[in-house]
Amino acid sequence: MTRDFEPDPEVLADLALRRASEHDRTRSRGDGIYDWEPSKPVGFWACRNPQCKGMADVYEENVTAFGIFNREIVKRGEKPLEDHRIMFCDRCLAEYRRTAPDRRRAQVERMAVAIRSLKESGDATRERDLIAQISEWGHPDVEGLVNAIAERRAAESGRSSKKRQI
Ligand SMILES: [Zn+2]
Repeated sequence: MTRDFEPDPEVLADLALRRASEHDRTRSRGDGIYDWEPSKPVGFWACRNPQCKGMADVYEENVTAFGIFNREIVKRGEKPLEDHRIMFCDRCLAEYRRTAPDRRRAQVERMAVAIRSLKESGDATRERDLIAQISEWGHPDVEGLVNAIAERRAAESGRSSKKRQI
């Protein structure tokens, strides 16, 4: 071998590294992420947006999850959901995600209005409705909220009755 054909040690090292990483699944395949192949849709359901005539791809796992969900709600004595009220098509899903922050803000505002009404309401029926509504919207501590309002009212009526005594 003449000097001209002597392999450059850096090139050899580079080739060795490439060979090694070709076989190193964690390097070349990103910890197995690329081993995952997207499953193929098994069918189509109408988009859940009633204004949209689009179709949503349905995958095996959607069908399974939908079946489990429906069995659960039937067990609770509710009517099973129909499959055209389940999935958004790609376009509506993108729109749904884009508008999610607005919906969250609106929801927070609705909750705040209901809580204000609950604090100010003196009507038992209206309070019951408001508490049911707040629970349905997923307030994390309805009992704590109701107790706090009751305590504040008790404290306020205590103060006002003392005032009257003076
Ligand atoms: Zn759609």
